[in-house]
Amino acid sequence: MVTLPKLNELGFFEIRLESIGGLGANLAGKMLAEAGVVGVGLNGVSFSSYGSEKKGSPVKAHIRFCDTNTNIRDASPVERPHVVGIFHESLSKTVNVISGIYEDSIVLVNSTKTPEQLKEKMKLLGGTIAVVDAIGIALEEKNRTNMAMLGALFRLCDFLDPETMKAVIRKSLEKKYPQAVQPALRTFERGYNEVRFQTFDLPEGMQMPAFVRQDTPVLGYETQPIGGTITNPGNSILKDLSISRAGMMPHFAEDKCIHCAACDNVCPDFCFVWEEQLDKRGRPQMFLQGIDYQYCKGCLKCVKACPTEALTDEREEDGYAEAHRVPHRFDLAVN
Ligand code: SF4
Ligand code: SF4
Repeated sequence: MVTLPKLNELGFFEIRLESIGGLGANLAGKMLAEAGVVGVGLNGVSFSSYGSEKKGSPVKAHIRFCDTNTNIRDASPVERPHVVGIFHESLSKTVNVISGIYEDSIVLVNSTKTPEQLKEKMKLLGGTIAVVDAIGIALEEKNRTNMAMLGALFRLCDFLDPETMKAVIRKSLEKKYPQAVQPALRTFERGYNEVRFQTFDLPEGMQMPAFVRQDTPVLGYETQPIGGTITNPGNSILKDLSISRAGMMPHFAEDKCIHCAACDNVCPDFCFVWEEQLDKRGRPQMFLQGIDYQYCKGCLKCVKACPTEALTDEREEDGYAEAHRVPHRFDLAVN
C-alpha cells in the first residue's frame, strides 16, 4: 500500500474541488476516489455538495483518503484541503476557493495565467500553485475539462497511479462510446504533462491567516441575525453570471448586424442592450448596441440564432468581457 504524503489530525489526506455545475467536478471526484481505493489500496470517500443549482452555479466535490487501518467516520465537507482543484478561475470572484488551505497545500487552477500571476490575483501568501489550461486542452481535443483537470490532479497526487485511471477511462467508455476513448485519454495525458507548478515560501515573519470557518458560521442565540433580516441581498440586476461561462463567449461585430433581434429572442438572460435611434429614413428603430457580459452565461444560443455572423463564439480571454461589456442602463429611481 502507498504512503500518503500528509495527513490531518484525523489521519486523512483531503482534496477539495471547486467548480461550477456542468464541468464534471463531481465525476472527477468519484474517479479520483476510485483510483485511490481500487488502484492503490487506500481507504477513500468522495461526495459533492450541490443542491438544486442549475448548470453554471458553484459546486464542490470532497475527497478523503486514509490508510486501511483508519476508519472514515467523517462525512463533513473538506474545510482544510491539502489539495484544491479550481475548475474555473473566475470562481475566485465570488467564492473563497482557497479557504482553509495550509502553508504547504497545493492549489491547482484551470487557467492560462502563470503561477506568479495567480498568486497575486488570489492573494496567496505561500504554498504551491499549479496551473493547467484545462479548457484549452479540452477544446483542442474535443473532450471534457474534467479529464484535463484529472490528469493534472494525478500528477500532483503522485501516490495515485495514472495507469489505473487510464484503465478506468477505457473501461467506462469503450462499450458505449468507443470513439471517445482516445480523445479522453489524450486529454488526461495532456493535463498530466502540461501542468506547471511553482512553490512560494511565506515571506519572512508572515504566517498563514488563522483558519476561520466561513461557510457554516456557528449561530446561536447570541450570534444569530435578527429575525427577518436579509444579510446578503440579491436580485437579477445584481447577479453576475460571468462565472457560469465555461470557456467560450459570444463576440459582437456591429458592422455585420442587421438588428433583427433573433439573438435577443433566444437569450435566456437578458444580455442584449438596445437603443432607439433614427434609421436611414428618419424613422425610430431599435439598434443593438452590444452585450452586457455581466449576465451572459456563455450558452451560445445567440450565436446559433444570428443569421449574419455578427455574433461568433470565441474562447474567453481574460479582461475581454470587462473591456467590451455594454452595460444595461437600469433606471433604479423610486418615485
Ligand atoms: S451566450 Fe448569448 S444567448 Fe447565451 S447568455 Fe450569453 S448572450 Fe445570452
Ligand atoms: S441576431 Fe445577429 S444580426 Fe440579428 S440583431 Fe442579433 S447580432 Fe444582430
